[in-house]
Amino acid sequence: MTFETSAEHSMIASTATEIATEFGPAYWREREENGEFATDFWDELGEAGFHGLLVPEEYGGADMGMAELGLAMETLCAEGCGMAGTWYLVLTAGMATVGLNKHGTDEQKETYLTDIATGDRNFSIGITEPEAGTNTLNVSTRAEKDGDEYVLNGQKAWITFSDRADNMILVTRTTPREEVDRGTDGISLFVVDMDSPGIDVSPIEKHAINYSKSCEVFFEDVRVPEENLLGDRGDGWDALVSTLNPERIGFAAAATGIGKLAAHTAIDYANDREVFGTPIGTHQAVSFPIAKPYARMEAAAQMRRKAEWLYDQDEPCGYETNVAKATAVEAGIETVKQSMQAFGGWGYATEYDVERWWREINLTRLAPVTQQMAYNHISQEIGFPRSY
Ligand SMILES: Cc1cc2nc3c(=O)[nH]c(=O)nc-3n(C[C@H](O)[C@H](O)[C@H](O)COP(=O)(O)OP(=O)(O)OC[C@H]3O[C@@H](n4cnc5c(N)ncnc54)[C@H](O)[C@@H]3O)c2cc1C
Repeated sequence: MTFETSAEHSMIASTATEIATEFGPAYWREREENGEFATDFWDELGEAGFHGLLVPEEYGGADMGMAELGLAMETLCAEGCGMAGTWYLVLTAGMATVGLNKHGTDEQKETYLTDIATGDRNFSIGITEPEAGTNTLNVSTRAEKDGDEYVLNGQKAWITFSDRADNMILVTRTTPREEVDRGTDGISLFVVDMDSPGIDVSPIEKHAINYSKSCEVFFEDVRVPEENLLGDRGDGWDALVSTLNPERIGFAAAATGIGKLAAHTAIDYANDREVFGTPIGTHQAVSFPIAKPYARMEAAAQMRRKAEWLYDQDEPCGYETNVAKATAVEAGIETVKQSMQAFGGWGYATEYDVERWWREINLTRLAPVTQQMAYNHISQEIGFPRSY
């Protein structure tokens, strides 16, 4: 690991900054208000090669690592896109790519990775179920073998992009939990074509990030060919876990990026706004509440870089990822909250965007892993008994 900025990293950061300048706060304010998917932004990420950052060269990608994807996401978020900078990359360019690359067959890689690299294929990831919640081992969506097909039945909740994605990586049980010795056994992943008969998608009304939908998805006798099994039957847990750290790293990058975006917008405002004959930014009561969590965001981002580096070396990185995610989220949320305070009443007006970033960043304490579950893992790693 080095603190020198490589030519590649400079290029990624400057490309992300250019894109975020083009697709800045006013663009996202409008997409949010209209509940519109940002197709032009998605396509621009494709042209810049960002969807293919993790895709191997033989499938048309850049063959880079989480360090580069994390940098792209943080920069996009910080330079104007807010949450969208992570949102439009984390599922397809992050989780799906990692899952397919590490566990896919040659055929699956050829079919899916090639399209991902060009931005022509959009994935959703179907883990959460209404009954299982955070306890993923309790998923009950069933996949039963029938000839050379599997038949899927069950329900997922909150599945982002499922209203428009081409595919879903679906977490199922090929053996019910009651019939396996270890809860991690009997889980199988499938690549599902979203236009298969028997899939019903119903968007959930939500607090923010309405430039993409998150939905309930119902599967009723959905048939998928057996070659769509991702990884080995019954051994899907390991494949799933390999995708979760990239997702958490992505949300840590988002928390830092949104925090920086809100802070710099507030700092510009505070250095200009005069109330008692001097810019409000000269009052430490305005600057310190932003500067303190900003400093913690910087520290959390260094931990994220360590997690990314470990991930890219194929080393265990669960502890570092959870520390990075939990601390980046706390610091980012406090930064956005205090940035909103610096705007006074104008922080409540949609035209200044900070209220939207406040709504966006609050998702990071709930997903993809809640803060409590991240701290459960950290507690266990530092020596407390496992509590869940
Ligand atoms: C906008 C949005 C988009 C999403 N996109 C996706 C997606 O694309 N794909 C997908 O699969 N999922 C997605 N999710 C789901 C998300 O990952 C889950 O909501 C999240 O993991 C929490 O699960 P839950 O809502 O069922 O909470 P629950 O599991 O019901 O937990 C409720 C509360 O109890 C706490 N809790 C539970 N057990 C413990 C324990 N042992 N110790 C301490 N605290 C505990 C939790 O931390 C939480 O605060 C999305 C969610 C949202 C809101």
